[in-house]
Amino acid sequence: MADERSTLRDRFRVRPGSRVDLSRIDPADSHGYTKAGSADDLARGLDRLRSLQERIWAEHRHKVLVILQGIDAAGKGGTIEHVMGAMNPAGCPVTSFKVPSQLELDHDYLWRVHARTPAKGEIAVFDRSHYEDVLIVRVHDLVPEAVWSRRYAQINDFERLLAEEGTTIVKFFLYIDREAQRERFQARLDEPDKRWKFRLGDLEERKRWDDYIEAFEEALSRCSTEHAPWYVIPANRKWFRNLAVADILADTLDDLDPRYPEPTEDLTGVVIE
Ligand code: AMP
Ligand code: MG
Repeated sequence: MADERSTLRDRFRVRPGSRVDLSRIDPADSHGYTKAGSADDLARGLDRLRSLQERIWAEHRHKVLVILQGIDAAGKGGTIEHVMGAMNPAGCPVTSFKVPSQLELDHDYLWRVHARTPAKGEIAVFDRSHYEDVLIVRVHDLVPEAVWSRRYAQINDFERLLAEEGTTIVKFFLYIDREAQRERFQARLDEPDKRWKFRLGDLEERKRWDDYIEAFEEALSRCSTEHAPWYVIPANRKWFRNLAVADILADTLDDLDPRYPEPTEDLTGVVIE
């Protein structure tokens, strides 16, 4: 599988300027991998992440922003647990963006987001993000179209600012189909330990499936750039989703070539008594 694995980043990246048609992507496709056969690949990907993140933290130079988006139950939380969990939490702040507070609403929509972007040495993980401001906000007409339609260009500008100031941005859209969401919602209802994740409001959102798909297609098409690419991850199979995210993120970090810093003091001849 080594040759397959080396191309996942290429295969799932949305080419800048291309139009994304999600109906042409199969969210159940595992691209030649099998669950049993790829367990070692996943373990290797997680090991790479652990080691790369330690060097990024030690070097205190690069800033990395990982954005996770997906429809409800797409697996954002599971990806954080199983993939980001391989890295040292000291250097990986996670922010989950919820319904904005009054204070947040009283500012522009990027205000709360900019405050959570990574500092040097950090790999910041966003569970939802400013993309909600062209997703749920668009689907529910929370602001007029004249307002949200300007946001795609604003988001590209914002992300370019971050990139030019040294932030590496990688955005994952976890793509599941309606049937996978049905199964996962059903499991949340059936299993007492999962029930806390379910809200009746989730069913209202589910009714707007097509509107969400359209909103996602637009965001993926208009906001995948050289400096902040989107990746569409087939996410019906959780093990493949984890494998793909781990591998693409590790390849991205690898390109930064992070290194342990040289000591800033002369340590030659120092003996610990
Ligand atoms: P969860 O991720 O299940 O905890 O749910 C968080 C909820 O907050 C989701 O329904 C999001 O769509 C919603 N949310 C996040 N950001 C925004 C935003 N900018 N405007 C409105 N709703 C949002
Ligand atoms: Mg939810």
